[in-house]
Amino acid sequence: ETMLGLFKRKCLWEALTMGRACFSSAVSTGRLQDKVALITGGASGLGKAAAREFIKQGSHVIIADIDPETGPATASELGPNAHFIHCDVTVENQVSEAVGFAVTRHGRLDIMYNNAGITGRPGPPGIAELDLDEFDRVMRVNVRGTIAGLKHAARVMVPARAGSIICTASISGVLGGLGPHPYTVSKSAVPGLVRSAAAELGRVGVRVNCVSPFVVATPLVLGQIGAYYPGVGRARVEEVVRGLGELAGAECEEIDVARAAVYLASDEAKYVTGHNLVIDGGFTCFKRLEFPAPDQME
Ligand code: NAD
Repeated sequence: ETMLGLFKRKCLWEALTMGRACFSSAVSTGRLQDKVALITGGASGLGKAAAREFIKQGSHVIIADIDPETGPATASELGPNAHFIHCDVTVENQVSEAVGFAVTRHGRLDIMYNNAGITGRPGPPGIAELDLDEFDRVMRVNVRGTIAGLKHAARVMVPARAGSIICTASISGVLGGLGPHPYTVSKSAVPGLVRSAAAELGRVGVRVNCVSPFVVATPLVLGQIGAYYPGVGRARVEEVVRGLGELAGAECEEIDVARAAVYLASDEAKYVTGHNLVIDGGFTCFKRLEFPAPDQME
């Protein structure tokens, strides 16, 4: 065979294999293809970003949220693979019904994302003046609501011997002083719930993990931080929030948390359970020591 013949044959082969690569990427499936996910607090902020990303990765998403306006609006914005169900996570019946809705509609529940949460009243009072009713209110949403989600997801995932449960904790559960006391306590409890549930459910192949995001300028955070700056515009508050990180060249965005959730939800994380995936650009890993400059030491 001549050199030219060999060359032509190689070109033909490459064209064919490239064509096949193009074809296979055109029909390739998403990382959550055909999975059924339920996201509490999915109407806004991190939950909404996760819903969008889950759908992009091929999932059907049920948004279970207490907000009767944002909830349906988000579902219609996200298209035919998103559905809204009204659900207050502090009311066990409603959590049970949301899980039932997913199973009735799609035949199963693959992913339960217990994400709904509140910060409670911002800032002071200090612990000496803490309003214990306020403490109960925050714990009821962030801890009881998470347990309710775990319980009812387990109810359908255990018989199926499969499933991925994700909960939203926070860097406020890793370090003290980043949020109001009730919020800090509630978010410290979430990784504990996750470990406890993972210990049991691992025996039947159901995985349980949590994400602990850094500060992201969602409505929750803008409300919380904005309260310290009455009269200051949203754009300026957002700028302050974006400046809080430690990792140069990046800021924590909704999509960073959503992608972490996609990983934990997907089969790529098939051996990951009981884990707290902290998404904070290293913020809770170190504290920089600021020494005075040598010329300031004299
Ligand atoms: P967000 O306020 O934008 O969204 C929270 C959603 O939860 C809202 O749609 C709200 O209607 C819903 N919700 C509130 N109470 C509910 C209840 N009882 N039942 C059902 N739904 C309820 O806030 P976000 O920032 O997206 O927060 C989502 C989660 O992420 C929360 O658990 C929060 O604590 C956590 N978190 C947020 C940040 C951040 O910086 N934004 C950082 C770490 C952790």
